[in-house]
Amino acid sequence: MRRTGDLKLIQELNRSIILDMIRKDGPLSRSEIAKRSNLSPTTVTTAVNDLIQDRLVSERGTGVSNGGRKPILLQFSPDNHYIIGISISNSKITIAEMNLEARIRCKEVYSTRGHTGEQVISYLLELIEYFINIINKPLDLCVGVSVITQGIVDSKNGVIRYNPKLKFENIPLKELIEQKFNIKTWLDNDTNAYILAEKHFGLFNHYENMIYITIGEGLGAGIIVNGTINRGHNGGAGEFGHTNISNEGIKCDCGNIGCIENYVCWPAVYSRILSSIARGKQTIMTELVHGDISQLTELNFVDALNKGDELAINVLEEMSTYLAIGLVNLVHLFNPQIIIFGGEITTNNPLLLQKVNQFVKERALTILYEDLQIQPSSLGKEFEMIGAASVLLQDKFQFKLTHTEEVVKG
Ligand SMILES: [Zn+2]
Repeated sequence: MRRTGDLKLIQELNRSIILDMIRKDGPLSRSEIAKRSNLSPTTVTTAVNDLIQDRLVSERGTGVSNGGRKPILLQFSPDNHYIIGISISNSKITIAEMNLEARIRCKEVYSTRGHTGEQVISYLLELIEYFINIINKPLDLCVGVSVITQGIVDSKNGVIRYNPKLKFENIPLKELIEQKFNIKTWLDNDTNAYILAEKHFGLFNHYENMIYITIGEGLGAGIIVNGTINRGHNGGAGEFGHTNISNEGIKCDCGNIGCIENYVCWPAVYSRILSSIARGKQTIMTELVHGDISQLTELNFVDALNKGDELAINVLEEMSTYLAIGLVNLVHLFNPQIIIFGGEITTNNPLLLQKVNQFVKERALTILYEDLQIQPSSLGKEFEMIGAASVLLQDKFQFKLTHTEEVVKG
């Protein structure tokens, strides 16, 4: 029994290695795969036959002959299957159908309608059902559902342990989705998903010690230490937003006071802008939203910054100082090679990078700062869905390190 189990595991591993090789370096011939992977030609042939049967790989033309018959080339077929990616944030639920390269074919965004707790979950299950009907594709072609969400997540067991804003406590979401739809489901914390995506699909895959900071409705961190994601005992590592930087101030949803999140996240920035306007400060942000300041978004704020708006710059300076205080603490705790910023407020925002860099340089130990990079995310606009996809793809297929060569050359 044991031998059979081991053999099956080895076969699956070989299949994953071969599939990832064809995906990254294809089209490739069977003999080239054998040469590159150090696997026997028989092992490669068996694995390739399985991959062709599963429609993950297809034959495409012939390569250059080394004297004998021209070899048949194999290429990755990402479009024969699909995955469903889901992101649950405090205000919206995003659902997308993607191919096996995380390319979005259909995406819907729904408001959470102010729901909390069990209401959000039953609404989510309804939305998944509705979405499956919209895309109208056979469920047996769906490789899986991958859900990412804020808060403390036990990714191994697929349980949302705690999210104070949406009032989640010990919700076995993986089990609920699998029972209702009979599709294998993955669950992870959103920021952990983004750092996994940066590591396996983004431009920063050659780093072993990295921190990803998401600034949005909340503030979170994903931490990779020596190449491995640091989850902590309960999946709660990286709750950067609830680290304290003050002994006074706003009461946080977590029950504490002085949590950094309430000085740095978008709602905090937004309320600072509102109170300044109420005190009579002039800003082009009012014009950018045609006088309706309730419509102001992070993108408008960044736009105002890039246009040199004084109020926007003042608010950014305050926010980036608080953020940098938190980062100095992270730098001293984890000695990362890179800190990556994610979230709309960090996109196309050179001033934020400059302010934070300057502060961290002044405050951190020189030896910890000298090799440190602070960079915006490389995942692009669809970072949420790429994050969700990467959780599934790197676990199921062991896909990783797409851009290594480009980065080394660059
Ligand atoms: Zn808190």
